[in-house]
Amino acid sequence: ANHAAFANVADTDYADMELRNTAQTAFANVRQQLGKTYLPLINGEYQQTEQIIDSVNPSKYSEIVGKVGLISPEQAKAAMEAAKVAFPAWRRTPVKERADILRKAAVLMEQKRAELSAWIVLEVGKPVKEADAEVSEAIDFCNYYAQEMERLDKGYNYDIAGETNRYIYQPRGIAVVISPWNFPLAIAAGMTVAALATGNCTLLKPAETSSVIAAKFAEILVEAGIPKGVFQYVPGRGSTVGAYLVNHPDTHLIAFTGSQEVGCRIYADAAIVQPGQKHLKRVIAEMGGKNGLIIDESADLDAAVVGVVQSAFGYSGQKCSACSRVIVLEPIYDAFVQRLVEATHSLNIGLAESPSTQVGPVIDANARDRIKEYIEQGKKEAQAALEIPVTDTGYFVSPTIFSNVAPTAAIAQEEIFGPVVAVIKVKDFNEAIAVANGTNFALTGGLYSRTPSHIQQAEQEFEVGNLYINRTITGAIVARQPFGGFKMSGVGSKAGGPDYLLQFLEPRTITENI
Ligand code: GLU
Repeated sequence: ANHAAFANVADTDYADMELRNTAQTAFANVRQQLGKTYLPLINGEYQQTEQIIDSVNPSKYSEIVGKVGLISPEQAKAAMEAAKVAFPAWRRTPVKERADILRKAAVLMEQKRAELSAWIVLEVGKPVKEADAEVSEAIDFCNYYAQEMERLDKGYNYDIAGETNRYIYQPRGIAVVISPWNFPLAIAAGMTVAALATGNCTLLKPAETSSVIAAKFAEILVEAGIPKGVFQYVPGRGSTVGAYLVNHPDTHLIAFTGSQEVGCRIYADAAIVQPGQKHLKRVIAEMGGKNGLIIDESADLDAAVVGVVQSAFGYSGQKCSACSRVIVLEPIYDAFVQRLVEATHSLNIGLAESPSTQVGPVIDANARDRIKEYIEQGKKEAQAALEIPVTDTGYFVSPTIFSNVAPTAAIAQEEIFGPVVAVIKVKDFNEAIAVANGTNFALTGGLYSRTPSHIQQAEQEFEVGNLYINRTITGAIVARQPFGGFKMSGVGSKAGGPDYLLQFLEPRTITENI
């Protein structure tokens, strides 16, 4: 194998009563702390802000999880100055030392695992088991990027007689990380620790709806010993503060995960050389998907139904990896749709914190309304095969299945980012692949099949960054399924993979004639 062994951490085994008790105690502790205020961290100090927003529990929006101070553009300027001041020392800090801070952060996250998952559950409405898996992923990112940077730090040696040739990596400078709410800990941590491990000073601007969890992560980095100015937590509005940081002439790189619209805007803005700017900016953008799962006539239908339900409705479909199109071969189409509807009908929908919940709420009122508009649109374009009544004390949307959807319909082309799945009927496997590839996206995709020639054809022709055969298409694991797409799904290399850190580095060749 051409990679160093990496040990992923284990998720909580909730079958263990003691661990269930720990989880309950953590929930009770976190509940006691609801409604506190979280302030930005600039140059090692928590700063007062003019603007404070409420972050609410999507399962029960009358409950305020925390109050978050949003920075002003002037404070963003101060953070940028502090990062510049901190950079010379951070870039000279030995890689081992930087890596050890991140490993310490991983240890702290493991110690606080139950509390961190409770915060995730309450702030973004993610069901308990998935929140716990997210903490594992965040820990893995810390350990993996620490290890990866130590590998890259060895560089390469191309010496010949009379001439030494060394190939080394140096940090780029100042990194702006703009993180999403759907993996509020794992993705925020992943992009941030990649930037820090590689020696860049890093500003983290989380999505507004997940700023409390990001504040918890910031506290962990401080406790792990991150120097002031090297890491700063700068919650703020994307349209003002986010744009300011992206456009700043001293920003060297932007790591973004979020919508296609915002990603494209960042890519365009970052391309403009600002007055005083002496370099070109690097953008890493992980955007959306319209991910398809193909079910052929040889598929194990039991497995396929379970896989589709989990991939489409896990975290209410709010993953860029989620399945939003199921492409089914004609001979098994009716049987499959019937079974999918039955399986979906028996899902437990409820408060994210309840252990039996399989589908919780969506993130906020905007998301709920947008998804509902798509459902109305879908009713004009196709046949609603299932909609389940839900309560409105939280931002709930019913898992919804549309059948007989035309591949060109809006609900089969546009990313909905909710629990809505379009089922498309096709005549043969070639048509299945053509339909699967017939969107602007290329993130994840999957196939349920027991036909070797179909599996082989999918490997060659199914245009996605992450192809999954006979399993779910969500839940990529660090250093096992490096994650990311191409086409309009993103630019940059895969998170949790061997090329990821290269994007945060500047390679140099040093030749000496001896
Ligand atoms: N890495 C996640 C997965 O494999 C998805 C990340 C995202 O939604 O941005 O499910």
